[in-house]
Amino acid sequence: MLPDPNDAAHHHLVCPVCGRRQADDGLTLACPEPHAPGLWQSAYREAELAPDADRDGVYRYHRWLPVRRHLAGTGRTAVHRSERLAAALGLAELWIAFNGYWPERGGDLETGSFKELEAATVLGRLPEGAGTLVVTSAGNTAIAFAELCGRHRVPVVVVVPASALPRLRTRTPAVPWVRIVAVEGADYADAIALGDALAAQPGFVHEGGTRNVGRRDGLGTVLLAAVEATGALPAYYVQAIGSGAGAIAAHEAALRLRRRPEDPLPRLVLAQNASYAPVHRAWRTGERPWQCGADQQQRLAAEAAFAPELTNRRPPYDVRGGLCEALTRSGGQVWTADAAEARAAMADFEDLEGIDIEPPAGVALAALRRAVRAGRIDTGAPVLLNVTGGGRARLAREHVLVPRRADAVVPRSIVHDPVAVRDLAARFRDLDARSPAPELRPAGV
Ligand SMILES: [Zn+2]
Repeated sequence: MLPDPNDAAHHHLVCPVCGRRQADDGLTLACPEPHAPGLWQSAYREAELAPDADRDGVYRYHRWLPVRRHLAGTGRTAVHRSERLAAALGLAELWIAFNGYWPERGGDLETGSFKELEAATVLGRLPEGAGTLVVTSAGNTAIAFAELCGRHRVPVVVVVPASALPRLRTRTPAVPWVRIVAVEGADYADAIALGDALAAQPGFVHEGGTRNVGRRDGLGTVLLAAVEATGALPAYYVQAIGSGAGAIAAHEAALRLRRRPEDPLPRLVLAQNASYAPVHRAWRTGERPWQCGADQQQRLAAEAAFAPELTNRRPPYDVRGGLCEALTRSGGQVWTADAAEARAAMADFEDLEGIDIEPPAGVALAALRRAVRAGRIDTGAPVLLNVTGGGRARLAREHVLVPRRADAVVPRSIVHDPVAVRDLAARFRDLDARSPAPELRPAGV
């Protein structure tokens, strides 16, 4: 870990509900006042975007990150202006914020998704010796934390639905301080419930998902990188969402970047799977699918979705500072795309831009195409497409990726069994982060 040039006062936490302001201890996830839930916001001393060229990867933006330490060897977003894809869509100015592995374009996120930005920031925010971190994921966050915690000796338990295991491959082999718990017959919401229960046990620290300012401000660096490259905020910001943490983060970053309060914010253009789209339904109809029960039916729909990463059944929608607020303030839109449209978009991107992209990014691109065709995008205005994951097929060709196995497989019902949760906690409480780390295998072997 490198020393951090930030001092403790370079940022504070501010509650959007009651206005409470406090120092950041690196752990806190919610305001202690008894009021409706709200997402802490970071308030930074630095008023302008001030990238630090001397710092690696995401820490280039450390003046707007709630971090106290820097992890060496992390990557960041690569931004370029599209020509062929832009022409195919009929857009005058399309910018691609690419998150993944694409060496020629500067794409150096070796876990293949923008979740590496959040992992680098969450781990940079975490005080040393805080306990064993508990992270819940439907896939990409698990890969990012397993890789970074493995490399930087941070004890962590990663909780995933068992269905996500086949996608869990990392460059770093298994190490004793990174443990993976797979929940059988579960979706992301079930994994979150177990993560919550485990993190409440002594000796564990909750990563906290969207509530963690580190997670959101790390994801917000996608917009910082784009503005650094283009010199201005885009008119539209396009992204596929599950919890929507990345979209909320982009909106928060735009509020920081905007020079005057009257300047327009980028309109959020968000996308979900057509087969399961709770945020789309909430935004279009005003219903709240997560309040209507039918859990089993929703679980099955989520499991069958083309991009399962986008299937959070309980997104932070109505919470203060959450998705509904960001969509409303930015004049946003929510679209869906089905599997055939998303597959076609993935093929088009590879053909026109020259690199493979992940299914969620395919959903985002297909949704953008739909929005353009529906006349809902000003085709002369700058559009930023967040390719949230890509280059993984190429990464797999050029590097050895190790399939990760579960260290424990548990039934979904365990969350209602306090004794079983205590036993699980006892197994993983004191992970040994001092034992020797295996070497990375060289490329091409
Ligand atoms: Zn408060």
